[in-house]
Amino acid sequence: MSRISDKTNERLKALKDNYLKSLPGRYNQLKQIAVDAIEKRNDKDLLSDLRLQVHKIAGSAATFGLSILTDEAKGFENLLDSIIQNGEIIDEDASKQIIQSLKKIRTVCAEPGKFDSDTDETISISDIPNTDEEKKIVFVLGENDLISKDLSEQLGYFGYTVQVINSFSSLKDHIKEARNELLVMNTNMIENKPMTAAAVKKIKEETNRQLSIIFFSDKDNFNIRHECVQAGGDDFFTVPLDVSRLIDRVDSLTNDENTNPYHILIVDDDPEQVSYYALVLQQAGMITSVASDPKKVLDILSEAKPDLILMDMYMPECDGPDLAAIIRQQEAFVSIPIVFLSFESNKEIQFEAIRHGGDDFLTKPIKPDFLISSVTSKAERNRTLRYFMERDSLTGLLNHVKLKEALFNEVLRAERTEAELCFAMIDIDHFKQVNDVHGHMTGDRVLKSLSRLLQDRLRRTDVIGRYGGEEFAVILINTDSENAQKIMNNIRESFAQIRHVSSEGDFYVTFSCGISFFPNIKNASELNSEADQAMYKAKENGRNRIICASELLDT
Ligand code: GH3
Ligand code: MG
Ligand code: MG
Repeated sequence: MSRISDKTNERLKALKDNYLKSLPGRYNQLKQIAVDAIEKRNDKDLLSDLRLQVHKIAGSAATFGLSILTDEAKGFENLLDSIIQNGEIIDEDASKQIIQSLKKIRTVCAEPGKFDSDTDETISISDIPNTDEEKKIVFVLGENDLISKDLSEQLGYFGYTVQVINSFSSLKDHIKEARNELLVMNTNMIENKPMTAAAVKKIKEETNRQLSIIFFSDKDNFNIRHECVQAGGDDFFTVPLDVSRLIDRVDSLTNDENTNPYHILIVDDDPEQVSYYALVLQQAGMITSVASDPKKVLDILSEAKPDLILMDMYMPECDGPDLAAIIRQQEAFVSIPIVFLSFESNKEIQFEAIRHGGDDFLTKPIKPDFLISSVTSKAERNRTLRYFMERDSLTGLLNHVKLKEALFNEVLRAERTEAELCFAMIDIDHFKQVNDVHGHMTGDRVLKSLSRLLQDRLRRTDVIGRYGGEEFAVILINTDSENAQKIMNNIRESFAQIRHVSSEGDFYVTFSCGISFFPNIKNASELNSEADQAMYKAKENGRNRIICASELLDT
C-alpha cells in the first residue's frame, strides 16, 4: 500500500546509500575507541564512550533497516553492559570477546550492501498533503449584477478573490480543477431553470465534494431551502448578505489548516539519521529544524517554537532524558511534547526517560507511516491545548496575557537582532452604541470581522491579540514606523467599508489606533503605555484615525 512518490523514494534511497557509505568510517572510529579501551583496561570514560558508540551504530542501523548490524551491535552492547556491571575491568577474556564483536561488525560495515535485506516495503509514506499556499478563490455564479459586485468587494476585504461566472457551461470549466473552492450562487439560477438542482449537485460530485456551495436568495421559505439542499448546498443566506457571517462560513468551507504545518525539532547528533527523519516528516508536510548540539536546544526553542521535539536518547555530553529535564525546568516549555526515538528496548530505561519529562518513546526501527502518525497526533493535541490556554474564545486571537508576553519577547528579540518593531493598539469607535442599537450578538460579529481582517492583512510572523473587550493590539515585526502607519491605515480604511447587518439595518463601524515604535521607545511596558496614549489622542481628535506616539512629543 505504498503511496510514496518516486521522487521521495529516490531521496530516501540516497540517504540510505549515504549511510551505508559512512559505515566503514563509523567502524574505524569504533575500533579506535575499543583499542584504546582494551589498552587502558579500566578506563571508565573510554568504556562508556565505547558503549555509546556501539549503541549509536545499533540505532542508526535500525533506522536504515540494516537489521543484521543492529543485532551484532546489540550483542556487543550487552557484552559491554556486563563488563561495566562486573567492575569495569577489561580482562583477557573480555578483550577477546570485544575483538570478536568488532570483527563481526567490521564484516558488515566493510560491505553493507551484501547484508542489506531491507526491502523497500518498509518505506511508505501516507498521502503527501498539499502545502502550497493557494490563492483563495470564490466563484460567484450569477449575472454581473449589483449583488455579485457587492460580494466581490466585501469578500475582497478579507483576502478572497472573487470570480464572477455568468453561465452554467463555463462554470464547469472553472470548477474542473477545484480544490477546496467555493461557489456562491443565487437561488434564481436553479429556480428559473437555466439548470436543475440535480445538475448542480452533479458538478459538485464530480469534484469529489471539494467544491462547497453557498446559496443566497431574496426569499426564505422551506421549499427554496429544500431545493438548495438537493442541489448540494452547504449553506443558505438571505440578502442583504451578512458579510461577517458569510466570511465565517466561507473560511470554514475553504478551510486551509494545511497552511500552518507542524514544526518539529529533531535533536540528534547523527547527521544521516537526522536527514532521514527530517525527510520523512517534511514529506508529510511538516517543517523541521535540527539541533545536533544539545546545548543549543534552549535557544532554538525560544526562537522557533516547535510543536514537538523528536529526541535521540543518547548523545555525547548530555543525553536525552537529562536534556528533557532541563527543558521542563523552563516554564515556557513545560507543555511541549518530547518524543524519544531510540533503539532502546529496555522498558525500565524507557520508563525512566518518560519520568524525566518525555511524552513517548518510539523504538527503532520505526516505519515512516507510524512516525508520521505518532508525531502528528501529539503535535495536534499540543496545539489544541495551547490554543485554548492562550487564545480568546470569541476571536481566536492571543489573549491579553499572551500578547503582553509576546511583546516582551519580541522586544528582546528585536534588541538582539537590532531590528525595528511597532506596537499598535486599536479601539473600536462608539462600540457601546453598536451593542445598544444592534444587540450584543451583532456586536460580537463586528469584533470577529475585525479580528478576521487583521489576520488576513498582517503577516504570519506578526502578533495579533485581543487586548480586552473591543480593544485589539498588534505587534508588527521588522517594520519601521512609516510602513506600520501605512499598513494600519489600510486596515482602518478597509474596516470602515465593511458592511455589517442586523435587523435594525446595515451599518458601518470604524476604529481608532495608536502606534509606538521600537527602538524609539526601548521597553515593552513603555511601548504599551505610549501606544495607549496615542490611541486616546486619536479618539480626542475625532476617532477613525491613527496617531503615532512620536507625534505626541511634538504637541
Ligand atoms: P469609544 O469610541 O470612546 O471607544 O466609545 P466606545 O463606546 O467604544 O467605548 P466604551 O468603552 O464606552 O464601550 C465599550 C463597549 O464595548 C462596552 C461593552 O459593552 C462593549 N464590549 C466589550 N466587550 C464586548 C464583547 O465581547 N462583545 C460585545 N458585543 N461588546 C463588548
Ligand atoms: Mg475601549
Ligand atoms: Mg471603543
